Amino acid sequence: MRELIVAGAGPVGLSAALAARSQGLPALVLEARDHRARRPGSRAIFVHRATLELLDRISPGLGGEVASRGLVWDTRRTLWAGREVYARAYRAPAAGAPFTSLPQTVVEDLLRRACEAAGVEFGWADPVREVAVAEDGVRLVTASGAAHEARHVIAADGARSVVRERLGIALAGTASATEFVVVDVADGPSPLPAERVFHYRHPAVGGRNVLLVPFRGGWRVDVQCRPGDDAQGFAASAADWLPDVLPGIRRPRPVWSSVYRFQQRVAERFTDPFHRVLLAGEAAHLLPPFGARGMNSGIADAVEAARAVRARGASPAAPGDPVAGYAVARRAAAERNVRAAGAALDHLAAPRLRQRWTQRAAATAAPLWPRAARWLDSAPYGPRLRQVRY
Ligand SMILES: Cc1cc2nc3c(=O)[nH]c(=O)nc-3n(C[C@H](O)[C@H](O)[C@H](O)COP(=O)(O)OP(=O)(O)OC[C@H]3O[C@@H](n4cnc5c(N)ncnc54)[C@H](O)[C@@H]3O)c2cc1C
Repeated sequence: MRELIVAGAGPVGLSAALAARSQGLPALVLEARDHRARRPGSRAIFVHRATLELLDRISPGLGGEVASRGLVWDTRRTLWAGREVYARAYRAPAAGAPFTSLPQTVVEDLLRRACEAAGVEFGWADPVREVAVAEDGVRLVTASGAAHEARHVIAADGARSVVRERLGIALAGTASATEFVVVDVADGPSPLPAERVFHYRHPAVGGRNVLLVPFRGGWRVDVQCRPGDDAQGFAASAADWLPDVLPGIRRPRPVWSSVYRFQQRVAERFTDPFHRVLLAGEAAHLLPPFGARGMNSGIADAVEAARAVRARGASPAAPGDPVAGYAVARRAAAERNVRAAGAALDHLAAPRLRQRWTQRAAATAAPLWPRAARWLDSAPYGPRLRQVRY
């Protein structure tokens, strides 16, 4: 019987396997996709400093390499109906990258390379289909009919986790009332200054909110649709409105676009009654991307999951054992993250009249009252430079 199998080779599964290897545990990763298949879009772009430090811990030098592939912006600006209400440039810390911004595919490539170098085994293009848990371990059967047995399984098979579903663990929560159009735009020949810009009520898109975040190689454009909008049509016509949203890029070229209704959901349990399966990443929780907690908190799950598996070893399930401890602690972290990202979503959507009036009043007061300007900018929708607890 193997010590550990990881289901899913997304950023969380790869981090879990790498963390296991860093603790001397062998690991096999089973992945549904073919090893050559690349996932479209940049998805997670913002990697917090705490994550870079975790990556360095599980694979020395990896955090630095991820940081060197991304970019750091030093200016944040917020506008209200086209008028600037807040701008701040801040200094980078004396040592280390404060964060980095780059496509998730690049992070996944670096993680995968580190896994291969660390001796992680892979089974590609063979999704897990069946899961049976017993007191002494887990049996997985894949689509090809192959059976694999392990003392522990880290389930990092994403939002539609088959492992979670086979264990009968529900994912409870809500989805955003409005839809968001997310577009990645390639940089022009001379890149724009790297600034994170948030527009309340952007005049060029009919007064919808727009968040612009630079990453190495391009820009993430996030437009908040109104109830009743044809979000798909809006995404399809991106080439028409992008020149007004990114005026500094000549003929901005969308390289990927998608429509999301953001989810706020947490699994009711992060393990099974025998404490043999540990849910991690999107298999365990779904968050809106504001605050960039999805992948970042998933990587924290992964490192903790590997530590718990190592600490549990061959001991039987017991209340308070390391896997039970993992399940309690990481579920509490997920609840915190859902609350933080949900508060950001609520601020953006501003479904109540009082919220909209408060925002409008803050925009009016902003030129004379820095606190109102700061509140508009730092309303919890975006990345923060101070240490994030997730
Ligand atoms: C628009 C957008 C922006 C985002 N921005 C950020 C951000 O800036 N920062 C941040 O931290 N997060 C962000 N996120 C969230 C981030 O993308 C996710 O949290 C992250 O991808 C989750 O990683 P994961 O490994 O848990 O799941 P996934 O990335 O979904 O990986 C799951 C893997 O499991 C595989 N799989 C599925 N089923 C099976 C099976 N049955 N057997 C084997 N393998 C299987 C899949 O093929 C996949 O490779 C964003 C998300 C979106 C949509």
